[in-house]
Formats: sequence, C-alpha cells, structure tokens
Amino acid sequence: MAGTDYRCPHCGAELRGDMRKGGSRPGGTPGCPYDGLAYSALRAGHDAIYFGPWRRIDAPPTEIRRGYHRIGRHLDAIGAELAGRDLPAAARDLDAALAALRAADPREERRDTLRFMDNALSYAHRAIDDLLHEKGLPPHQPMDFSEWYDVVEVPFRDEW
Ligand SMILES: [Zn+2]
Repeated sequence: MAGTDYRCPHCGAELRGDMRKGGSRPGGTPGCPYDGLAYSALRAGHDAIYFGPWRRIDAPPTEIRRGYHRIGRHLDAIGAELAGRDLPAAARDLDAALAALRAADPREERRDTLRFMDNALSYAHRAIDDLLHEKGLPPHQPMDFSEWYDVVEVPFRDEW
C-alpha cells in the first residue's frame, strides 16, 4: 500500500497508519508525532520529503519531479519562517539549499539531479536545526518519526 492515510490538521503532516492506532508499524504511538514540537510543520514537511517515493531506487521521473517541487515548497516555508529574523546561519543554509535545488532542475535531465535534490534537502534540514538551536532545542531526527512513513530503503546520503 502506498500513499498517505492521514493528514494532520495541526501541522500538515502526511502520515501512514491510523491516528487512533498509531503509526504504520504494529504497536506504533497513537496521535500525530509532531504536534507540540517546535517547528512541527517544518519538521513534518521535511520528513514527508525525506521519506518520500522520489528517493527509491526505482522512482519514476514523475515522482522525481514531484519531489523536486515539494523541496521547493519546503524551502519557501523555511524562508517564510526566517523572514525578518536575524539568523545568519539559517539564512546561509537556506541559500545553499536554494542553490542546490536550482542545480537539480529535473527538466534538464541532469545526471546529478538526485544528488542535488538530496543536497538541497540536507541543507533544509540544517536550516531547521539552526532554528531549533536558536531556541536551545536539540536537532531534528527524522528517524525518530520513521514509524509514520513508508521508509525508503536507501539511506540518506549526507556525505555527498
Ligand atoms: Zn500534526
């Protein structure tokens, strides 16, 4: 089964499984795992992309294009959060994410499209962590939320 079973009305998280019964794994925690956390919408937005179908080895071009546009919207959401605030590290990471996304443009059939998309998402994650850090909070850990998603088999390639 693929796709989303539930969309959280609070943070917009697109979650697998039944909210009353918990995540997609047996014995998963009930309720939206992001609600009550700082920057819940940004975390949920990041993870929907992080665990998204575009990162599967056999992802078709349509999923890759969808992933590309979702990253663009995610970066817009981070930009809206940063607007008018003096957070140089977060602003730098967002700029790096935008540059990577521009380099990734899937319409140009570039061999490195997926690498640049991963890069853009990685910088987006850093920008979220910068926001959390400013509040004195620990970094966001996507794997803490993996039970809510169809986890892709490919590990995230932070090293690129
Ligand atoms: Zn939620």
